[in-house]
This record gives sequence, C-alpha cells and structure tokens, in this order.
Amino acid sequence: MTSGRQMEWKQEELKLAGELIKDHTAVKVGKILNKSKNAVLGVLYREKIKNGYTPSPDSKHSRTHMRTRVKSDPALGEMKCYICSNNFTRASRFDRFCYECKRTGRVV
Ligand SMILES: [Zn+2]
Repeated sequence: MTSGRQMEWKQEELKLAGELIKDHTAVKVGKILNKSKNAVLGVLYREKIKNGYTPSPDSKHSRTHMRTRVKSDPALGEMKCYICSNNFTRASRFDRFCYECKRTGRVV
C-alpha cells in the first residue's frame, strides 16, 4: 500500500461516487475512482451527514452513542448520611451527606 496524505475529493468525484454506489460495491467504486473502499464509504457517509442524514437507532454508527443511561439510577434513593447517619434521599449518586449536614457546613 502506498502511504501519504489522503487525497481530497473533487466535487465531481463525489457526485460520481454517489451515483456509482447505487449499482456497485464500495470496492468497485473505489477502483473506478482510484480510491480505497474505506475512502469511498467514509466520504459518502460524511456527505449523508452533511445533507441532514441521521443514522437510524439500529445503525452500527449510532449504537455506541445510545449507551447513555436513560433509566433512573438504581443507586439513587435513600441512604445513610456519612456524617450524622440519618437517612436522606440522594439527589445524585455522588451525594454522601444529608441536606442538613451540607447546610450547616459540617461537610468540608
Ligand atoms: Zn447528615
């Protein structure tokens, strides 16, 4: 494989790739345009995004972004204050002290 900077895509190449990909594989399109398969797929994907395309939730491109927790954290809820040992309701999973202890400044 030859090394070096990735070639810029000319507007007409882009257009052509968009047309060719409908009837040919990315490998074939790449051969026609003298680009790698990945370059073809990459540029077509970027074009789609630019044109307002959003990958479907099932797409492998978006799956990794859907990992964010939507359900409420089971770690939240009642817990014992680390200082006064009173039960209190946590507002976040990082809460360790009850509101009273925070308010009175016992928490440093
Ligand atoms: Zn407390």
